[in-house]
Amino acid sequence: FDMFVLAFVERLFRPTFRKDDFVVGKKLGEGSFGVVYKVSLSKKRSNEEGDYVLKKATEYGAVEIWMNERVRRACGNSCADFVYGFLDKSSKKGPEYWLLWKYEGESTLAGLLQSKEFPYNVETIILGKVQDLPKGLERENKIIQTIMRQLLFALDGLHSTGIIHRDVKPQNIIFSEGSRSFKIIDLGAAADLRVGINYIPKEFLLDPRYAAPEQYIMSTQTPSAPSAPVAAALSPVLWQMNLPDRFDIYSIGLIFLQMAFPSLRSDSNLIQFNRQLKRCDYDLTAWRKLVEPRASADLRRGFELVDLDGGIGWELLTSMVRYKARQRISAKAALAHPYFDRQGLLALSVMQ
Ligand code: ADP
Ligand code: MG
Repeated sequence: FDMFVLAFVERLFRPTFRKDDFVVGKKLGEGSFGVVYKVSLSKKRSNEEGDYVLKKATEYGAVEIWMNERVRRACGNSCADFVYGFLDKSSKKGPEYWLLWKYEGESTLAGLLQSKEFPYNVETIILGKVQDLPKGLERENKIIQTIMRQLLFALDGLHSTGIIHRDVKPQNIIFSEGSRSFKIIDLGAAADLRVGINYIPKEFLLDPRYAAPEQYIMSTQTPSAPSAPVAAALSPVLWQMNLPDRFDIYSIGLIFLQMAFPSLRSDSNLIQFNRQLKRCDYDLTAWRKLVEPRASADLRRGFELVDLDGGIGWELLTSMVRYKARQRISAKAALAHPYFDRQGLLALSVMQ
């Protein structure tokens, strides 16, 4: 009950927007359920500042607005800053949901990963300056560790709220220039098991490059979405039984892998890797045995990086990328993993 009162009061005091408050700018993305633009405020609201991001979404937009409002209240730092959502009935194409976020910046993790400079480009944007230090594995490991800590922190916030993202991938991770840290975006495929928004109609949406082998979040023993009150009562139990959060952990594990192994950053190589891993029954250690003897210099360098400090990175990686969801580490437990005992990037900048 309190939650609803809070939500209501909060909504009363938040600024609201209408369609003609915005000037639509550059297109940032286009998925099967909406188009995303960078927008600015029109003249009549020129006393307010900043750029925004607008998603014009189809019928699923209602759920995405609901998810974003819940995230804003429960774990606001995990995701891009959600501003407002409403239904626009005036479009000729039929009713459209408008979702608005603060514009966090131009860099997604996908863009940063594709650069030859990765991970040094990330070091520069996190620290806000170029470090004049020798390049090498140790330094790269520190940067990757810092990124992983930020990603797990954001994910732990979502999972502790009861939300599973289901579409964690570098394209859905944005660098927030305001907080100098990575945030998760795109709750378009997210599910909330605790409150009862428990819809599963979009499995076909899941990105096969980053999806865990189980594909479906709920086991096949939970056939269809129960009605909301029933789901609210059952879902903590279902959560324990099925550990749906471990679906996201698998995806984060693949991102860790791509950061450590430059040769796995391209789409085609990631797809090839997924095929090899499937042939190894999703056993990462078996995959290593298979490829290491005839590994390229690039691949060997990845193994060297995860083997630093007694192989603690490899240990974390193999505890995320596992076939059985219940054997995967949780976001919270991963944050307490010894891989994070060593100081990350901040130690580097203090050394200067
Ligand atoms: P889609 O459903 O098209 O995947 P996303 O929510 O992932 O929609 O947004 C598409 C793209 O728009 C992202 O990959 C990112 O480049 C950009 N974007 C989304 N939200 C923001 C934001 N808050 N700030 C800056 N860029 C954003
Ligand atoms: Mg997206």
